[in-house]
Amino acid sequence: MFEIIRRIWKTGVVTQQPLVLAAPPRYRGKLIIDQADCSGCGRCESICPTGAIRLQPAPGGHKTGGQKIVVSYGKCVFCGLCSEVCSGGAISQSQDYRMATRQKNELLQYGG
Ligand code: SF4
Ligand code: SF4
Repeated sequence: MFEIIRRIWKTGVVTQQPLVLAAPPRYRGKLIIDQADCSGCGRCESICPTGAIRLQPAPGGHKTGGQKIVVSYGKCVFCGLCSEVCSGGAISQSQDYRMATRQKNELLQYGG
């Protein structure tokens, strides 16, 4: 016990490795957005129950007409509806569950 307290005091970090090493196969985690396959139809934005995903104007002339997908993990509940309605396959879900951050702006993911 004393050793743990001494380490916290010294480093400020207690956990040294992920608590879960691999998510279960059907786990629905962080989204993968392939902007190149997005047609800008807006179905993902319409169906999202929490308003976590939206199309926002962005410079660059791709086929979405200058719009880019933005997801806020402060709102996303990982329901997977956006990937289900995306007929172009521009959205899928990974098994990545490690999204904790101390910076609010790092909760935003832009289509790449
Ligand atoms: S990600 Fe898919 S559903 Fe969303 S706007 Fe692009 S093509 Fe449409
Ligand atoms: S997984 Fe669900 S909550 Fe998250 S962005 Fe997609 S539709 Fe919205």
